[in-house]
Amino acid sequence: MYEHSRRMFTALLPLLSAGDDLETKRRLLHHCEVAVRRLGEGEAPGRLTQRLFLEVRPLIGPSDALTALELVERHVNALHHATLRARVAPITRCAGRNRRGRPCGRDAMRGQDYCTSHRDLADATLPPPVARQR
Ligand SMILES: [Zn+2]
Repeated sequence: MYEHSRRMFTALLPLLSAGDDLETKRRLLHHCEVAVRRLGEGEAPGRLTQRLFLEVRPLIGPSDALTALELVERHVNALHHATLRARVAPITRCAGRNRRGRPCGRDAMRGQDYCTSHRDLADATLPPPVARQR
């Protein structure tokens, strides 16, 4: 779960209006962590998107609000689907390859295509970071 909130945090970070203010970053990370936990507890993605957006909006410049909403929505939905897959999916073999080009052979993380060593390959298929609108 930690990686999901971290990913959401990293995506929203460039939109912070207060820039490198440490307290603002902490608040953003906190909101992301709480949101991921709420989703795990069964909160509906639509409602969660709305709630998280309202929480992070004061931290973000007005011109980036729409971008923030789209980011929040995409990440909440991606996480929601990952959670659903994880509940029903059997554990499969990792789709990654070792340095010799042979199949990795380790168990993939539940509901995912790659093991912990090859999780970076899975990250490559996530929504791309959004360019700032200036
Ligand atoms: Zn692997």
